[in-house]
Amino acid sequence: MIDSHIHAESLSWSNLVDMSMSGIRSAVTFPVCPWRAGINTSIQITLIKWLLHHETWRAAENNIQLFLGIGVPAIGIPSDFETFCQKMEELAKNPKVVAIGEVGFDPRSEVCKDIRIQGKVLRAQLEIAKRKKLPVVLHTPPDSAKSRIEFKKKYDKRMFLEKSLELVHEVGISPCRVVLDHLDKAEWIQMALDQGCYAGITIQEWRGVSPELAARWAEEFGPKRILLNSDTSTLASDHLGVPKVVFHLCRRKIKGKMIKKIIYDNPIQFYQLSLE
Ligand SMILES: [Zn+2]
Repeated sequence: MIDSHIHAESLSWSNLVDMSMSGIRSAVTFPVCPWRAGINTSIQITLIKWLLHHETWRAAENNIQLFLGIGVPAIGIPSDFETFCQKMEELAKNPKVVAIGEVGFDPRSEVCKDIRIQGKVLRAQLEIAKRKKLPVVLHTPPDSAKSRIEFKKKYDKRMFLEKSLELVHEVGISPCRVVLDHLDKAEWIQMALDQGCYAGITIQEWRGVSPELAARWAEEFGPKRILLNSDTSTLASDHLGVPKVVFHLCRRKIKGKMIKKIIYDNPIQFYQLSLE
């Protein structure tokens, strides 16, 4: 299986062993700086190089082929974003880079609270994705009505999904090259699929998405254009989220062919992965 969205630097060596032994053969990792440490292009590039050279090696040592997305979400916009954009063009040439991501709005951002500026940052990266013909992983903020974490301010997730889709259309990216990620309600999954996008389901208890619920959604909405991921980060996450969904799909007597499509064929097709 393939975990379609992780943050590899947060995984311990034994996490990687667990993942590999549970059948994960490949994963895609994304650079999100720990924003409380302050973010500029130099730090973001260091993180990307760390992922490109060190994390791909750690994964390979555990029989996992690791690929990368490059970009910045609104929670981690470098203070000198224009410089970062220039560097992105260069980094996108690396064969291990298979996507632009994760990128997208987040009303919780502490480095950029202005949603208009967040939109400009997203648009600039969507334009790079279009030029480089790379698929886009669109981060969406957790549904504040559903999340188990208390938010300072409630917000409307739908508005951010719509704003993101508007920009995708304006820039002229085909929706089938976009995954709307972290979809934590059946309604959002339906919306992504109706728009022709991929629907990314992140298995994290704090989002209110257990492996069992993700399996139910995968059965109901899949197998076409569904991607599963654990989004393992420095926040609470489960590196075995994807294998646990497979466990529940098997319990639900879902055909092997359908399971394989969701957890293997779909990510290969979306990211155009060439697995060894
Ligand atoms: Zn992520």
